[in-house]
Amino acid sequence: MKITLLAGGVGGARFTRGLLHLLAERYPDGEGGTTAEVTVVANTGDDMWLHGVRVCPDLDTVMYTLGGAIHEGQGWGRQDESSRVSADLAAYDLGWEWFTLGDLDLATHLARTELLRAGRTLTEATAHLCRRWQPGVTLLPMSDQPVETHVVVGDGTDDDPERLIHFEEWWVRHRAGIPARRFEQVGLDAASATPEVLEAIMTADLVLLPPSNPVVSVGTILAVPRVREALHATPAPVVGISPIVGGAAVRGMADACLQTIGVETSAAAVGLHYGAREDLEDDDLARGAGQGSGEGAPLGILDGWLVDSGDVDAVAALESAGIRARAVPLLMTDDAATAEIAAAALGLVGMG
Ligand code: GDP
Ligand code: CA
Repeated sequence: MKITLLAGGVGGARFTRGLLHLLAERYPDGEGGTTAEVTVVANTGDDMWLHGVRVCPDLDTVMYTLGGAIHEGQGWGRQDESSRVSADLAAYDLGWEWFTLGDLDLATHLARTELLRAGRTLTEATAHLCRRWQPGVTLLPMSDQPVETHVVVGDGTDDDPERLIHFEEWWVRHRAGIPARRFEQVGLDAASATPEVLEAIMTADLVLLPPSNPVVSVGTILAVPRVREALHATPAPVVGISPIVGGAAVRGMADACLQTIGVETSAAAVGLHYGAREDLEDDDLARGAGQGSGEGAPLGILDGWLVDSGDVDAVAALESAGIRARAVPLLMTDDAATAEIAAAALGLVGMG
């Protein structure tokens, strides 16, 4: 059993942890783990350079969560963390007071940067870091080229000129509180999906979209050239889990992102935004290079979409659009509850 996920940080990591619990029961390896092969393709659009090191927030959240090192309360960063280095850098007037790199976390970024500077790809550097944390999955960046999500803010007046800020500045510093005119993936033109990512999608038995941010996590991965086409071409069913429950993002500010791209914050609207995966003609495939490119709507990607029990009204609209849908409780309160969600995702396409 091979399962590939396209994930952001916290939502993607927590879902994957629950999935691994389910797989350990269904496909046990006799040592508490699973014989199922799970690959997580992580968004790297949040990556940035800070203090001379490469920071990859979503890769690290997945690695730390599955490796048992995550700060559970925060959902990101290391447990038992301190911030002496960041505090000392602040004494030099360097860094951002709104973005602290913990001391232990900094070791991860230093290690990654050393590997990158020695000529390793981000895929290889990530594999090296994972040797320590043993996340129980193959963790892949969506691309080996830097693709950084930036946000266009400002109303274009002299007082508030239009300008581009890094996604993390908009998200962490401004708490998504200033209107985003649009998102730009800086570097996307020169980026490609890695062969590892395309193979993981093409050879999977099942592809899952965990409840991750549909715009700046999953949306960014889908924008990488050839990812959408691979989701079309794969023989595996593609099933997503709604990150929107009862008309709101459970955690975080995904509603601000959806508003920016003109999608309503509802489980149905997000499923319909991903679109139904249908059989396509060759000319459809030719225009499928991702969001915003070419004519018409981008290629749909979903065979199935899970919504929360409270959003049962969404099921009919999704089904009539060609997406198999079911309503089940979608709050990832603990690993057992999350494993149930994963079981429902498998069940939706007859893999229960
Ligand atoms: P980030 O990169 O850390 O922002 O994390 P992700 O993109 O992977 O996931 C963030 C999204 O997860 C949020 O936008 C929420 O909508 C969603 N989310 C968080 N917790 C839950 C949960 O318990 N259930 C569901 N269905 N969605 C959740
Ligand atoms: Ca993220």
